[in-house]
Amino acid sequence: MSNPIILDEPLTVRELAERLDNNPIAVIKALMSMGVMANINQTLDLDTAILVSEEMGYTIAEAEPEFEELPVVDEGPAAPDRMRLYRDEPKDKLAARPPVVTILGHVDHGKTTLLDSIRQTRVVDREAGGITQHIGAYQVQKQGRTITFIDTPGHEAFTAMRRRGARGADIAVLVVAADDGMMPQSYEALDHVRAAGAQIVVALNKIDRENANPDRVYSELADAGLIPEQYGGETPVVSTSALQGTGIDELLDYILIVNDMNQEEIVANPDRDAQGVVIESVIDPRQGVTATLLVQNGTLKQGDSLVVGTVAGRIRAMFDWQGKRIKSAGPSTPVQILGLPDAPSAGDRFGVVASNKLARSIVEERLAKQAGSGPARITLEDVYRQLQAGSVKSLNVILKADVDGSLEPITDSLKELNNKEVRIEVLRADTGAISESDVMLAAASEAVVLGFGVEPDRGARERAESENVEIRTYNIIYQLLDDMERAVSGMLDPVYEPVTIGKAEVRQVFSVRRGKIAGCYVLDGKVLRNAKARLLRGREELWEGDIETLRRFTDDVREVAQGFECGISLKGYNDIEEGDIIEVYQMERVN
Ligand code: GDP
Repeated sequence: MSNPIILDEPLTVRELAERLDNNPIAVIKALMSMGVMANINQTLDLDTAILVSEEMGYTIAEAEPEFEELPVVDEGPAAPDRMRLYRDEPKDKLAARPPVVTILGHVDHGKTTLLDSIRQTRVVDREAGGITQHIGAYQVQKQGRTITFIDTPGHEAFTAMRRRGARGADIAVLVVAADDGMMPQSYEALDHVRAAGAQIVVALNKIDRENANPDRVYSELADAGLIPEQYGGETPVVSTSALQGTGIDELLDYILIVNDMNQEEIVANPDRDAQGVVIESVIDPRQGVTATLLVQNGTLKQGDSLVVGTVAGRIRAMFDWQGKRIKSAGPSTPVQILGLPDAPSAGDRFGVVASNKLARSIVEERLAKQAGSGPARITLEDVYRQLQAGSVKSLNVILKADVDGSLEPITDSLKELNNKEVRIEVLRADTGAISESDVMLAAASEAVVLGFGVEPDRGARERAESENVEIRTYNIIYQLLDDMERAVSGMLDPVYEPVTIGKAEVRQVFSVRRGKIAGCYVLDGKVLRNAKARLLRGREELWEGDIETLRRFTDDVREVAQGFECGISLKGYNDIEEGDIIEVYQMERVN
């Protein structure tokens, strides 16, 4: 064979035969001679594929590794500040983009009706009665300009986004029913919006109702810090009837005005790899996974390789929100994509990387890290994700009790548990059963819900399940305090110590362009590419640092187990001799 064949990823017997330009049967036979029974559709790992090809007389070229170190995926900051997504872009590349709008408010105040009404009145090229598919977002035209709406039921996506710091929306429409006024979820929604740094427009809905009382709502809004423009404040309040379609045009006009007032913030760089956030994803039995993504920065193209949370894939096909096939999508565009092997979670960020192979490696690394760091669920034992205020961490608590008289002694005792490093923050202390609203607040603020003499109702229980919020109930005060004390001590800065996980003996040393590679045999335990290592010669420790590369044959691998050979290079160190021992260790938490 004159031209070497390059193999760089696992492939099926059929695919290998195609690459070798040979018959699949010949490959199966060769595999059998090596003691491997495989059918034509079976996937061979890279080592086996190379071995069998060589066995068949082919020359297999060493595939150049695409990377030495896995690059950081550029999916934008996970930080609370939405604007950081655009701040680092070159100023001359920034261009205006459509505002992204979300609709929030108390249940039954008319969010869904309003979203539907906006869709119906403003979508021009839609035949009447056409089937509207909901993909979690849509776009409308007003004054020849585009507005993107996030169209997800209730709070879900917004909470998920907020928790992951994705902060999808530029403008939030707070829907308040004129006959009902500000209700618990209205206040909660307001907290979400403020925390997300989005601009607010109030839709004073159900204005058609006989018992509508706008003045009452105005003053409630003012009390909540939203001084209506009508009162000389800065918050636009638009009267709407989502049911009758009145006030919709005005609402859209206001959205554009708010957009223009914040023009310098509602920008993006279309001329780069896309980054953004998952709006929703579903598994369709026929199509596989379809995911709705919101492009926040850059331009997303068909064929792009994506890392989405812990899912890697290539975009096979892309559609706009009306189901029309598109090849590329710029900032603020919602798109539905096909090609992901698994469903990502709403609120997960995505970034584009150079190849599918690279995407898979990054995801593997993330999964490995996750496996090492325990479940992602927020629980007392796992220690809540720690909010850092300087060097002080706080543990957020929502406290519900059966009687008023219990609240104060408990909050006082909780305060006594505060120490130099950790502070317990009681976000809400109230009487009554644990409700869904308590859980929503807990989800958004990463709090635990404590019940004293009370239980969660069904809605709260279900919500806690879906939002991964922990609810703990007690009947005895000291048990509650005991648990909290443990949580607080668990939040103290962790102490790490080195724990040896494997040993490898250097059997041969190879010189390569960039330094030395130690050909090793793993004596016991395992070698992990992410681990740290010491180089021992006799009893002397010569070096300590990071493993740079770990290979089996020509392949970069994450792990090599006892009894196998591998090539190891050490970061910035080349004085390696035959007979040296490489001791591999990891820093593990001991408290
Ligand atoms: P959501 O829970 O906030 O999504 O509220 P919905 O959109 O489901 O609306 C709840 C109820 O209020 C439904 O019966 C709607 O028909 C009704 N509704 C919504 N908007 C209006 C409105 O502007 N006027 C009147 N009269 N009813 C409305």
